[in-house]
Amino acid sequence: MSKKHRDRNWAPAPPALGADAHVIDNHTHVASVVPFSRAMSHEAQAKGQPEVPVYSVDELLHQAQEVGVEGVIDCGCELPNLMTAVDMAREHPGVVHAAIAIHPNESVLHGHRGVPGPDGLPLRYKPWHEVSFDDAIAEVERIARAYPRQVVAIGETGMDLFRTGEGAKELQREAFRAHIALAKELDLPLQIHDRDAHREVIETLLADGAPRRTVFHSYSGDAEMGRIAREHGWYLSLSGTSSYKGNDGIRESVRIVGLDHVMVETDAPYLTPMPYRGRTNAPYMIPYTLDALAQYLELPIDEVARATRATTREVYGV
Ligand SMILES: [Zn+2]
Repeated sequence: MSKKHRDRNWAPAPPALGADAHVIDNHTHVASVVPFSRAMSHEAQAKGQPEVPVYSVDELLHQAQEVGVEGVIDCGCELPNLMTAVDMAREHPGVVHAAIAIHPNESVLHGHRGVPGPDGLPLRYKPWHEVSFDDAIAEVERIARAYPRQVVAIGETGMDLFRTGEGAKELQREAFRAHIALAKELDLPLQIHDRDAHREVIETLLADGAPRRTVFHSYSGDAEMGRIAREHGWYLSLSGTSSYKGNDGIRESVRIVGLDHVMVETDAPYLTPMPYRGRTNAPYMIPYTLDALAQYLELPIDEVARATRATTREVYGV
């Protein structure tokens, strides 16, 4: 489908999960869904397409609950929005929980104006990047300690070699190591962002010693990586990409680690599950990902939902 004819509207709501099979969206960016959908709304208007409504955070959370997604772990991973996730958690106790960190693509910018990206051009440098990485992660630690009821994880951190060139690789690794140390210090689960960096991420975890609860967010590994995860007791959080044709390695890894080490997430506003790949993602889309997983495992969807919910409780205590 060409971009010109892309449907910018929200996907319809999936059938609701059973009353005893409610789940948590284990990694999402709800605050980002609002401006993202506003942009979609403007684009649709410009193209003369049907009107696209813009929903508030409250409405998005309500829509999720209507289909059995009872809560979310919202991720704040840029210095200026760490408190956005924490404030959302304070406003919605028991429904929203926060994960905070300095994202790998952010970590390389702090105090390093003009680090070249893969195309040799500087990555997008913003005023808050004047703060050194050490000061930025000190702020992550301060907030995590100040809001222990809201902050349930350190993340997303890790390595991203898709957007970051070789020059920044070691900066990213050092930032990742600092997050690993912080998660262990606070005994919080670690949510890992691993894009095109399986080997580097695994090497670093093994060299430093992984936190007790280590989660690969939007897991993208193959069966071999699934076996490594099983060996070390690491958890896999599946986004909509687990429903995409061709991602057999992700699905095979689920069989390898078992559902007691698997969770589901949206990573909204991106990575929308099939059959709505390309639309705006939001927590209410989780049942589509569960449905694809249930079909692959040949299990009832509610059984898969209950199993992933139990894993979430085990890992995050929520
Ligand atoms: Zn994310």
